[in-house]
Order: sequence, then C-alpha cells, then structure tokens
Amino acid sequence: MTFRTRFAPSPTGPLHLGHAYSGLFAFDLAQRAGGAFLLRIDDIDASRSRPEWEAQIYDDLTWLGLTWPKPVRRQSEHLPAYRAALSYLWARGLLYPCSCSRRDIAAAASAPQEDSPPIGPDGIVYPGTCRPSHPPEGTLPETVLRLDMRRALGTLQAQALRPLLGFKEDGAGPEGQTGQIRLDPEALVETIGDVVLARGGMGGSYHLSVVVDDAVQRITHVIRGRDLFGATAIHVVLQRLLELPTPIYHHHRLIRDETGKRLAKRDDARAIAKYRADGLTPRQIREMVGL
Ligand code: GLU
Repeated sequence: MTFRTRFAPSPTGPLHLGHAYSGLFAFDLAQRAGGAFLLRIDDIDASRSRPEWEAQIYDDLTWLGLTWPKPVRRQSEHLPAYRAALSYLWARGLLYPCSCSRRDIAAAASAPQEDSPPIGPDGIVYPGTCRPSHPPEGTLPETVLRLDMRRALGTLQAQALRPLLGFKEDGAGPEGQTGQIRLDPEALVETIGDVVLARGGMGGSYHLSVVVDDAVQRITHVIRGRDLFGATAIHVVLQRLLELPTPIYHHHRLIRDETGKRLAKRDDARAIAKYRADGLTPRQIREMVGL
C-alpha cells in the first residue's frame, strides 16, 4: 500500500505553530515512506472561510519548505459529492431533519430530570428532540440533518460478515490509546449520538466532507492532532455506512502554550506569519515544535 497522507487546514484564520507541527510531521512521514503528501483546503464552512487565509496557507507552507501536488482539492468545489453521500444515507433512512438551536439542545439536555448532559466531539450529545420513530420519507431536504446513530449502527450490525467496528491507531489518543482500536456501538450512541451531517446552505458537515474527501483522495494515513481522536469514531462509522475504506490513523501530540492550553486560531501571537515577520527561519520553527 503506497503511503498517501494529507494536511487539511481550514482557511478560517492564521496558521499557528500547531499547524506547522502537523503539516511538517505529515510531510516528513510521507517523505520517509516514499509516499505522497497532499494539501487540502477544508473550506466547507463558507461563512467562516476567507480567500486571504487560504492565500496565507499556501504562502506559510511554502515558506516552511512543504511541497504538494496541484491543483489542491478545495471542499467548496465539491458540494455535489457531499450531497450524493447525504442522498445515499437519506435513502437508507439514516438521516432526519433537525430544527433545534444550540440553546434548545442545552435546555433539553439539562432538563431537571436529566443527569448532566454527556459531551461528545461536537458538544452536548443530542438529546433526540427531533428524532422520528420512523425514517422520514420524500426527497433529501436542504436543512440541518442528523445521523440516527442507533439506527445506523443497527444496520451495520445486521451485516453479519462485516469485521468489527474499529481502526488502527499508529500514534496515540488522549489517553494513550494505540494499536487496534475497537469501537463499542453502545458507547457511540451514549457518548457521540446523533451528529449533524448537513447544515442548511452547506454541502455537508465537517465529518461528512472529510470522510468523502479522504476516500476520493485515496488517503491511506490520516495524520492529525489528538484533539480529533473523538471525531475519528464518527468518521469510521460513516466510512462503514458509505462503504468506504478506513485509513490508518495517526493522532499526534498537540502544541500547547506555556499555560498548557492547546493553541487556537485566535492565538495570533503564535501565527507562523508573525514568526516570519520577526525574522525566524523555518529551521527555528522546526526546533520550536520539537522536530
Ligand atoms: N480541517 C480540520 C481542521 O482544521 C482538520 C481536518 C482533519 O484532519 O480531518 O481542524
């Protein structure tokens, strides 16, 4: 199996030291394996993506010494592919429309009779307010759509010849999870629940689009930060539902500030562009992130 990985930043702010580490780490692994390193622009969220941030991504990564095949895949140019995946899941009765706001979800989840709501990779686990008892009929609506997790896992379990649900971890999760990771269906229902796969006016959610893209780009190794370890369980379920291959995952350590907090897009002080302006070299950036 040739090694193909990707670095998939979202153009919603400046790249910082955490991105530099992730991109360089993936690039180095691909070089060592004699494989391919792809750059992808995860601009599915049009309301937050900006052309100037995308231009800055190309500029910063080139300065760091990364190279990648062109043209790059930009999610905003592939909305029909995400729609097709949604149509497939809809036709199998696994999606339902949801009209809850964040506030509705918080209120329903913290109703007096409930224990404190479980928090999943996307925030509070959806309490199921809009979940229908029977799959909705008709054509795919242009609205927020959730995956009926219990029903989805039920269809997978019915496919008796399927291998166990899980993935291979070449790095480590937040609690040191490594090697063959098995996913427990009941835990997926309880701790992840009915995730959003389509938002109104957007082709698909983050989870749906990365799963489609990784398959289209024939990615063999997904290399990304440990903060996305929880999301990987969702991606593996979607790969099974959509009959797509599951790549090997490598979740890497996170670059933190001096207080131990993970760097975020708004940490402009640690933006690669800022270090460039201050006269640092790419080698110094590698040293700062421990490469
Ligand atoms: N676009 C995502 C981000 O910037 C990463 C996508 C992924 O690695 O799956 O956090």
